[in-house]
Amino acid sequence: MAQIELRFYHSLNDFVEPALRNAVIVHHLNRRASVKDIIESFNVPHTEIEQILVNSHVVGFNYIVQHGDFIQVYPAPFAPVMTPAFALRPPSPRPPLFVIDANLGKLARYLRLLGLDCLYRNDYHDDTVAKIADEQHRTVLTRDRTLLQRRIIVYGYFVRACLPRVQVKEVLNRFNLHPLLKPLTRCSHCNGQLIEIEKQEIEHRLEPLTKQHYHRFLICSVCNQIYWHGSHCKHVQQLIDGFSI
Ligand SMILES: [Zn+2]
Repeated sequence: MAQIELRFYHSLNDFVEPALRNAVIVHHLNRRASVKDIIESFNVPHTEIEQILVNSHVVGFNYIVQHGDFIQVYPAPFAPVMTPAFALRPPSPRPPLFVIDANLGKLARYLRLLGLDCLYRNDYHDDTVAKIADEQHRTVLTRDRTLLQRRIIVYGYFVRACLPRVQVKEVLNRFNLHPLLKPLTRCSHCNGQLIEIEKQEIEHRLEPLTKQHYHRFLICSVCNQIYWHGSHCKHVQQLIDGFSI
């Protein structure tokens, strides 16, 4: 029977059962298999992987594993070969466009407040998320590992944290998004673009105190939600400060 060895590095060990973490795993092959199939049989979604080495050479997901191979699997940003002959996937749009799993609503709202393009609905099914990701080259954010193992999903990230604010910090760090944030440019309710609007045009919709204290306003171009400079800006800046720590 063919035998191989493999090792997962850094955060990929989050998916592997404890006894196999940070260790060289001896694995027996009972059928012809691609390196992607072998890796995912250890519960590591392909979307988490940045680079695969077989016997110190960079390979793609379709490489057919051979007896005696030593497979090393790395997440971003720990790829050991800086300029490989090819990458596992084409570069994703920058900043990334996200599609967010139905159970991460607060994460979606926070990321939108920071100006990131996030499609989200609380009634999204897994099939819908996968279809949107495929058609629009979006990055899936989810806490569902099996969703990320779907073949048609190219870009994705398994959010480790449970608390929404910690999730935001995790996503900003993972995708190096701090320099790309554009707070208060996108509606936290619907993801629409915010545009400046004259106070007199929306005055009739304002509460008395808001009307009295604020003078610069934004409106969502899709759902007409009103935002105002001042308290909203302060709130978003406090969020960003918190996420930077
Ligand atoms: Zn809106």
